[in-house]
Amino acid sequence: MARILITSAIPYINGIKHLGNLVGSQLPADLYARYNRGRGNEVMFLCATDEHGTPAELAATKAGKPVDEFCAEMHGIQTDIANRFGLSFDQFGRSSSPQNHKLTQHFAGKLAEAGLIREVNEKQVYSNADGRFLPDRYIEGTCPNCGYDKARGDQCENCTKQLDPTDLIDPRSAVSGSTDLEVRDTKHLYLCQSKMKDTLDTWIDGKADWPVLTTSIAKKWLHDGDGLQDRGITRDLDWGIPVKKGDQDWPGMEGKVFYVWFDAPIEYIACAGEWAEANGKTDADWERWWRTDKGADDVKYVQFMGKDNVPFHTLSFPSTIMGSNEPWKLVDYIKSFNYLNYDGGQFSTSQGRGVFMDQALDILPADYWRWWLLSHAPESSDSEFTWDNFQQSVNKDLADVLGNFVSRITKFCRSKFGESVPGEGEYGEQEQVLIADLTIRIRAYEAHMDAMEVRKSAQELRAIWVAGNEYLQSAAPWSTFKTDPAKAAAQVRLGLNLIRLYAVLSAPFIPTASASMLSAMNTLDTSWPEDVQVALNALPAGHDFKVPDVLFAKITDEQSEEWQARFSGTRY
Ligand SMILES: [Zn+2]
Repeated sequence: MARILITSAIPYINGIKHLGNLVGSQLPADLYARYNRGRGNEVMFLCATDEHGTPAELAATKAGKPVDEFCAEMHGIQTDIANRFGLSFDQFGRSSSPQNHKLTQHFAGKLAEAGLIREVNEKQVYSNADGRFLPDRYIEGTCPNCGYDKARGDQCENCTKQLDPTDLIDPRSAVSGSTDLEVRDTKHLYLCQSKMKDTLDTWIDGKADWPVLTTSIAKKWLHDGDGLQDRGITRDLDWGIPVKKGDQDWPGMEGKVFYVWFDAPIEYIACAGEWAEANGKTDADWERWWRTDKGADDVKYVQFMGKDNVPFHTLSFPSTIMGSNEPWKLVDYIKSFNYLNYDGGQFSTSQGRGVFMDQALDILPADYWRWWLLSHAPESSDSEFTWDNFQQSVNKDLADVLGNFVSRITKFCRSKFGESVPGEGEYGEQEQVLIADLTIRIRAYEAHMDAMEVRKSAQELRAIWVAGNEYLQSAAPWSTFKTDPAKAAAQVRLGLNLIRLYAVLSAPFIPTASASMLSAMNTLDTSWPEDVQVALNALPAGHDFKVPDVLFAKITDEQSEEWQARFSGTRY
């Protein structure tokens, strides 16, 4: 039994994520977690909300709530949506947890001991009215280049010119609108990533099996221009993890917190500590996943993320881990994704464009979305959601192929043999051909799933469903029954067993429908079909079942058009 540690990129706290976010990390991570559990492997699947930083503070202010209260509430909302999408995290943690506070401070202390942290004096804009330093993008003013009056301190959105806050004409605070700003001296800590450059380069060279998308992004950041740069790890904010060196104060850093990018990936580890606490486990129970000196040396660690997150996971987080000189588990494989676009444009959280997770579940159950998103995952290039494609894919794959198969065979059996598996007849040549074909296809499906080839896995699974339909079409038990009822019984017995087999194979993609199929087949047997012949005899003669309700309703043209119109505008 293999041990697989899986983390999904952690979603930011301020708002509900759209389907593009979902398919870029959490959903394929869930697919892989469910598949590995189905194969009998030991899985630890972790995700969390990323809660620190200025956007969370501002969203809380806008909502009229203290930031900790706001984050707790939003974490509850994201947890609920994750559950309803069937995301089977072992723990959905919070980067603001006490475990992450302690661990982030611990890493900072170890990095300082290793000489990988330096102090830098900087000048930063301070807002007297707001009583705080302002990050560049929270300063607004008139662009010196084009005259746009809502240019941000880091960039003008109108003409795209990169700016410094001091370039702006009539600068003001984006928080309060106050123009009472001044430039003050402040001190920050930097992680010396440049010192880790060669170590990281060698490490990534050893990852020949990683997707090109992952390694090419990492290499670009390592070598382009002046190469990998040191990076600030602290901020002048109230909301965050206080800067400490382990459990000691850090002289000169009082009142400052760690920068969100530094503490967020450490939450992957802290989250396992949260899991242990929530489940009455010991430190040893979570450390055997994360400490190679405490049992994690046989763990395979896989990360899932969108391509925008690759630099942090290939360079910054590994710098933290390797730089600590402690035996923490490093990632073994990074599965990264391109972007999913929405109906001729981009999904956008800030503009509310596209379908968001809560809206999706308001109109259809999770499995419809899971199937479409995974079977169209943006792996080799960006992909696009359109309502036409969604309607066609759901109707054809789920309703016509899988749903129809289940409905036909169970209803036919009920009408001729009753609601129990018929015992007459033997599997003949046609059945042996099907078993041989399915054996080849299931081994191919396993290979694609093991390689995290999401689209290929979906294609192979669909081909497995089609094979059953084609068998049923050509065996035609409804005709056979008239001349050879025993043979028809054997055909039906195989068909009913195929439903159980399909439920087991399909569970990673469509867990709810899979559970309905198993429930209809009145079985708890979810054993993986290592031997297809054996698997197709799992439900014995005389075993009772029930004809299930319709598994997948077709999407009508009216629905598709209505939804297209409803989601053509913006959310807010
Ligand atoms: Zn401009």
